[in-house]
Amino acid sequence: MPDPNGFLRYDRRLPARRPVPVRISDWREVYPPAGEELVREQATRCMDCGIPFCHDGCPLGNRIPDWNDLVRTGNWDAAVESLHATNNFPEFTGRLCPAPCEAACVLGLGGQQPVTIKQVEVEIADAAVARDGLRPRPASVPTGRSVAVVGSGPAGLAAAQQLARAGHTVTVYERDDAIGGLLRYGIPDFKLEKQHIDRRLAQLTAEGVRFRTGVAVGVDVTAEQVRAEHDAVLLACGALQGRDTPQTPGRALRGVHQAMAHLVAANRVVAAAGDGRPALAVLPDGTPIDAAGKHVVIIGGGDTAADCLGVAHRQGAAGVHQLDLYPEPPQSRDAERDPWPTWPWVLRNYPAHEEGGDRVFAVAVQEFVDDGTGQVRSVRIAEVTVEKVDGRRVVTPLPGSEREIPADLVLLAIGFEGTEQQPLLAQFGVARNARGAVDARGDWQAADGVFVAGDMHRGASLIVWAIAEGRAAAAAVHAYLGGVGELPAPVDPARQPLAAR
Ligand SMILES: Cc1cc2nc3c(=O)[nH]c(=O)nc-3n(C[C@H](O)[C@H](O)[C@H](O)COP(=O)(O)OP(=O)(O)OC[C@H]3O[C@@H](n4cnc5c(N)ncnc54)[C@H](O)[C@@H]3O)c2cc1C
Ligand code: SF4
Repeated sequence: MPDPNGFLRYDRRLPARRPVPVRISDWREVYPPAGEELVREQATRCMDCGIPFCHDGCPLGNRIPDWNDLVRTGNWDAAVESLHATNNFPEFTGRLCPAPCEAACVLGLGGQQPVTIKQVEVEIADAAVARDGLRPRPASVPTGRSVAVVGSGPAGLAAAQQLARAGHTVTVYERDDAIGGLLRYGIPDFKLEKQHIDRRLAQLTAEGVRFRTGVAVGVDVTAEQVRAEHDAVLLACGALQGRDTPQTPGRALRGVHQAMAHLVAANRVVAAAGDGRPALAVLPDGTPIDAAGKHVVIIGGGDTAADCLGVAHRQGAAGVHQLDLYPEPPQSRDAERDPWPTWPWVLRNYPAHEEGGDRVFAVAVQEFVDDGTGQVRSVRIAEVTVEKVDGRRVVTPLPGSEREIPADLVLLAIGFEGTEQQPLLAQFGVARNARGAVDARGDWQAADGVFVAGDMHRGASLIVWAIAEGRAAAAAVHAYLGGVGELPAPVDPARQPLAAR
């Protein structure tokens, strides 16, 4: 029986982050482990409210009150089982999820701080590793059916694991040289050390999943070849088409880059360095894209921008400005605008923000300014207002508000325009919609025998949605192949986050 008064006895507490001067001198994760006492105390704050809205807040339908109580009572093995019943990779979500479940926690109704659900999740995930090293669970009976999964991000990997455990022979095709999608070369190590991915890959491999890296489907192998080899295909190619700003004067100057170019280059040198100090980051053609000693301007306000900020500090930037088009959000939920239990628009401070840099809100770049040699030397910005007119965003600069900010390196983190236009789409007979995503029917098929999941289907989203869609699409593939029984399907293709409007 959960403790109905736990939240009255204990305040919300998270483990202390590693000190800023220490953590920006390496690439290790920002959070140390919480320690059992703190986690059990915090799990005690969950009162098992009867109608756990956190379930609906979590796209995976994680059984949060169940595992909170198991942790509270020190029943770690059962907590590990319960968490893995709904989530293939809690070590990813426990570290990286923005935790919409916490925004939906019933404690928020009475003005209390939510349970530290995500922290409890990551501690259970790490306990699983400590206890049995992520024991493989191979299928006992093979079905003789074969599935190709294209793309090895969280959506592809979750689907691959579900299908392999159901007895299908699964091959994951990945065009990169390593498995993991954005988890591998997009998200920096200070948010997710790559040992977590490698451990899961060892488990998937032991469960029979085959990996083919360095293979771009549609280029190195045709869709026809893939279809000939497999009974079903799941596309999980992400939404990696970066939004650009070609109309802004000076965009072609040296030193102005897509944020992902910076992150991938940085993550690759960290991966190559092992425990050593990484070399300077360069683009594939050898052009330096390192922030060391530079004035850096990051344009954008989301995860990608915050990751660039943390990378710039670790590379030794001289100074960093992060520019956001929108006004500064409120510190706490505006209940009129975003009533509980929806995801509120509030100021989100990532650990990277406490490491330094200046955030500038409600501004837009008017020009990238040339130093006379074709290299950017500054950005000219103006204060702006942003309105929605007939569903379109209209940005209006305020006259007389222009100023310059020094910039040797400018990083565009202004979002993604959906999945890339690439040969694979036409070869499989699927197309991008107006949002750049690939639509799926109710059974996750985009074309006969071709299923789609994750960011490629939703547009740029979150890891928790990618895993949820990967699991649901795997259930649909299993049914299509005539598999015995049903696999869990936490979401359908039309499912959206909890919202008031
Ligand atoms: C910088 C950054 C930081 C982020 N931080 C967070 C965070 O903290 N928390 C969070 O929840 N979400 C975060 N996200 C979002 C999250 O990473 C994505 O929503 C998630 O990775 C999507 O998973 P996916 O499997 O759909 O696609 P992806 O992870 O994008 O993987 C798609 C894979 O498909 C491969 N591929 C594409 N085409 C082909 C082809 N033709 N043949 C073979 N392979 C192909 C790609 O190389 C890639 O590896 C972040 C995103 C970015 C860009
Ligand atoms: S996956 Fe995200 S939403 Fe679900 S329980 Fe974990 S932190 Fe909450």
